[in-house]
Formats: sequence, structure tokens, C-alpha cells
Amino acid sequence: MTIRSNHRAATSILVASLTLLTACASSPLERRQVVLYSEAEMAARGAAAYSQMREETSASEDARATRYVQCVADHVVEALPEAQRNIYLWEVTLFASEQVNAFALPGGKIGVYEGLLDVAINQHQLAAVMAHEVGHVLANHSNERASQSALRNVGFGVAQILGASDTTLRALDVGTQLGVFLPFNRTQESEADLIGLTLMARAGFEPDESISLWENMAANSGERTPALLSTHPSPSARMDELRARMPAAELELDAAQARGAHPDCIR
Ligand SMILES: [Zn+2]
Repeated sequence: MTIRSNHRAATSILVASLTLLTACASSPLERRQVVLYSEAEMAARGAAAYSQMREETSASEDARATRYVQCVADHVVEALPEAQRNIYLWEVTLFASEQVNAFALPGGKIGVYEGLLDVAINQHQLAAVMAHEVGHVLANHSNERASQSALRNVGFGVAQILGASDTTLRALDVGTQLGVFLPFNRTQESEADLIGLTLMARAGFEPDESISLWENMAANSGERTPALLSTHPSPSARMDELRARMPAAELELDAAQARGAHPDCIR
């Protein structure tokens, strides 16, 4: 390729990426987002990843714990606005693994690991984790993350076509490793915390238990570091944010209880 055609190719890729950049949306907290994929595509990706995980990790054989986790999930999903409740076939699996972790994938696929039940010690704390993970789904965070990584690849391709040196290319790649595109950034985490806090209260779970949950997580980080902590910001920072939102969440809880929402999931 000549230099000129290199530039032409690079320009057309840039134009394409700028066109993609216009695919903006807003998170439930009114933050502007770049999301490139359709809801249906993300749901299909989530469902595929979920079935793969279920092939790789067995489901718990503890029927009582499985019922308990299903009960909490049912209450959390029930508290979703109708459109979000009905858009997916929400499912939850309790995995037989000592990991202290949980996730929710686009398409409404929730996973909880048995190890989490030792740290999230009651239904309110388990609801806090689940509602946080569901918060990531509601705010389209996986779409945003996948879109950022696609755009990064476009940028990388442009640099290559323009004949950037290997050193520059390595620097670009290191930049992404240094946290520009880490899974779920800080902003996304605090969005998921706040959406989750409201959601758990709407379901009738006690929102202040979310603070106790992060205290338990922090207390556990010595012996068996919860996997959840390795991908999430420090518990103390998020506890401050949660405390600031607690009065509003308590009002949500009062309203939920007035509607008769009194979850009673027993392990
Ligand atoms: Zn998170």
C-alpha cells in the first residue's frame, strides 16, 4: 500500500469509528454512554456465556441454599420496573464453588457462588450483591465495556495503517492495560451500587445491610480475598456513597413495606 492509500484507509476507519461514537445512550443515572450493540445482541452474548459457565461449573447440590438464592432473586426481579422485568427471561444459578462472587449478565442471567453465602450472611446482604449486579445489567455496562474495546481495536488499526512504530503500538496497548478499559470502571461501579441500593429497598430488603455486606467483604479480605473485591473498588469508598444515599433508600423501603413487600427468604 502507498502512503496515500494508507491515509485514505485510515481516514475511512476514523470516519467509521466517529459514526460509531454517535451511538450514544444514557445510563439510568443520566450519564452519557457509548453503546454500539443492540439489546438483543448483548442478551444473546450473555446467554451464550451463561450456558458455557453452566457447562464448566456444576450447579450447587444444596437444595435448601438453591431455594434460598432463588427466593432472593425472585424478589429482586419482581421489584424491577415492568419493562425491565419482562424484557428478559431472568434466571439465577447457584454454582458449587467456594468463590466469594456473583454476577449478572445481559439477558438477565444471574450467577451466585456458594462461597458468597459465607460473606453475604443474610437475605438482605445477598439481595445487596444481586441488586448491584443487576444494576450493571440495567445500566448496560457490558455493552459499554464491549463498545470501548471495539473502539480501542479501531484506534489500534488506524495507528498500524499510519505506520506507527512498534514502540508506539506497544505504548497504546500498555495504556489500555493500565486501566483505560478495565472491566467495569469506577463510574460504572458506583452507578451499580446506587441502582442496586434503590432496587433492593424496592424489593423490601433493608438497604443499610449493604453497608454491613461491604464490612464483611473487607473483614474477609485477609484470609480468603473475595474475588468480588479484586474487580471492585475499595469497600470504604463505596460505603461512604451508600451512606449518603441511605435516607432516600429508607424511603423506598417504607413505600415497599406499605405495598406489602416483606421478603422472607430463609436459608
Ligand atoms: Zn460491580
